[in-house]
Amino acid sequence: LVVLKSVNKHFGALHVLQDIDLTVARGEVVVVIGPSGSGKSTLCRTINRLETIDTGSITIDGKALPHEGKELARLRADVGMVFQSFNLFAHKTVLENVTLGQVKVRKKDKKQAEERARTLLDRVGVGAQAEKYPAQLSGGQQQRVAIARALAMEPKVMLFDEPTSALDPEMINEVLEVMQQLARDGMTMIVVTHEMGFARSAANRVVFMADGRIVEAASPDQFFSNPRSDRAKDFLSKIL
Ligand code: ATP
Ligand code: MG
Repeated sequence: LVVLKSVNKHFGALHVLQDIDLTVARGEVVVVIGPSGSGKSTLCRTINRLETIDTGSITIDGKALPHEGKELARLRADVGMVFQSFNLFAHKTVLENVTLGQVKVRKKDKKQAEERARTLLDRVGVGAQAEKYPAQLSGGQQQRVAIARALAMEPKVMLFDEPTSALDPEMINEVLEVMQQLARDGMTMIVVTHEMGFARSAANRVVFMADGRIVEAASPDQFFSNPRSDRAKDFLSKIL
């Protein structure tokens, strides 16, 4: 579903993505881990074209990423993204946050969009917060709204970039549980996270990045019990 071929990207002199080859099948959950600065966020951002690439290709569902305009807005809807910082629209209610894109990009009528929004908000456990503004919600609630907002667009794939790392410990699990459920429901997911419990239980594949390269890709069992590279061994010894 998502195919990256020989993707390279520089930030000035920094070769932030080096010959990245990655194929994510429909329904697959890929967890991306690696040290700070290894290029994980940049990788995510290239997939919904928040960053451009220098060379190589990225296709989603067989189609190259569009460059601009309506096509780009549609791509961003196809590729749902949830970031570390809860980037909801602060001056819109929770319900409006989850309704807006459906009307603007997916051209749904407002009533239908609101119905879907309420269903999704219930599903992630924040149905009762629909009329509130983001600032009135906890971090965990906001992040679940962000997930509902992305899902409302009926994405083909969901990208998560450290969705729980800005959360207080007691809120981490409520977000991870929503993600687990999503994985069980068959959503295609690329998840950057330091939550190794999630990686073990939800991932079909763990991708380990270092210095802009994919150093290792393996099943969670294989990766955690028997990492092949010294970089991965070193990384795991620090976080486990
Ligand atoms: P972390 O675990 O800390 O989130 P990461 O693996 O997500 O790290 P990236 O955010 O992808 O790493 O950054 C990779 C490298 O690219 C870093 O050295 C970073 O400083 C650099 N970088 C990221 N964005 C930019 C930018 N817009 N301009 C210049 N350099 C950037
Ligand atoms: Mg990052």
